Amino acid sequence: MNKKPSMDIVIPFYNEQAVVSELFTRLEQLVDSLAAEVTVICVNDGSTDSTLEKLLEAAASARFTVRILSLSRNFGKESALTAGLHHTEADVVISMDGDLQDPPELIEELYQRWLDDEQLDIVIPVRRTRNEDGFLKRTTATLFYWVAQKITDTKMLPQAGDFRLMSRRVITAIEHYGERARFMKGLFATVGFNYATVEYDRPGRPAGKTSFSLWKLWNFALDGITSFSSLPLRIWSYVGFLLAALGLGFAALKVVSTLVFGVDVPGYASTFVVVLFFSGIQLISIGILGEYIGRVFSEVKRRPLYLVDRTHGFDGQFLREVSARHDLPAIARDIDSRD
Ligand code: UDP
Ligand code: MG
Repeated sequence: MNKKPSMDIVIPFYNEQAVVSELFTRLEQLVDSLAAEVTVICVNDGSTDSTLEKLLEAAASARFTVRILSLSRNFGKESALTAGLHHTEADVVISMDGDLQDPPELIEELYQRWLDDEQLDIVIPVRRTRNEDGFLKRTTATLFYWVAQKITDTKMLPQAGDFRLMSRRVITAIEHYGERARFMKGLFATVGFNYATVEYDRPGRPAGKTSFSLWKLWNFALDGITSFSSLPLRIWSYVGFLLAALGLGFAALKVVSTLVFGVDVPGYASTFVVVLFFSGIQLISIGILGEYIGRVFSEVKRRPLYLVDRTHGFDGQFLREVSARHDLPAIARDIDSRD
């Protein structure tokens, strides 16, 4: 008895060569004091710099187990994180960013909370402020969470990111969400379970730069809403009814005014405005249909969410099992083997 619980720390990396060694130094300091069997699972999301080399270097000298999944190209953070989670097997799993914006030191507190309370399955760090984000990102994020809160059933915590601790059964639950569009924050929120939050100050990025431009964030937000709500689709029937009712009312008004005042033929401009307005409304509704159809299209293709090119530190049998479970081709090659 009294075996230490095992902990997998999943970290996606995309062009993070500048921070890898500092991250490992800080993990190293932490792991010693942690009463857990720690494995760090690094996902190299098709980095074009020397991130993979840096990871291998760090793995060679680390005092804890390091496993590396190197994807065949850049699949995006959500897919990279999913890939990492698929390859975990520990009792508790931590997901965190590799850019040091999620301070590794906090893991200790998350873990302690989990150990102290048997009812807990999730522990989520929430940032006290969003001051480290620019004004634009802050307001757009607030707006997004407000809309998401209103029109989806998921309760996403606005101040939380993908940094969190989850128990094994949460990970298993998430694996049963079969969609290809992986809006992780939403998925994390839909599974439910008891959670606790821990407050922290999120530091800025020490090096490198964010890979989320405003345009990417907009698309990300669209993914978030369309994955979790069909309200944008349904709303058009109501808009249609409302406009039809308005049209009928207007028609009745016209009949009366024609009977009373006779016919006059002004109104070129007003016709023009009405036509423009309604064409706009129709195009918007078709566009929204398109958003969903596009997503249905990419879901039915059932393409692999990610492809693992090379690995380090994984057991071959385990990799084959994971591939089989997630309908992925078993093509990963160990970095150290030549064949
Ligand atoms: N990331 C990734 N694939 C991508 C983009 C980002 O794996 O295509 C990783 C990145 O290396 C970092 C984390 O996801 O560890 C968060 O990315 P970033 O700091 O750019 O996002 P932000 O903190 O600005 O939301
Ligand atoms: Mg970041």
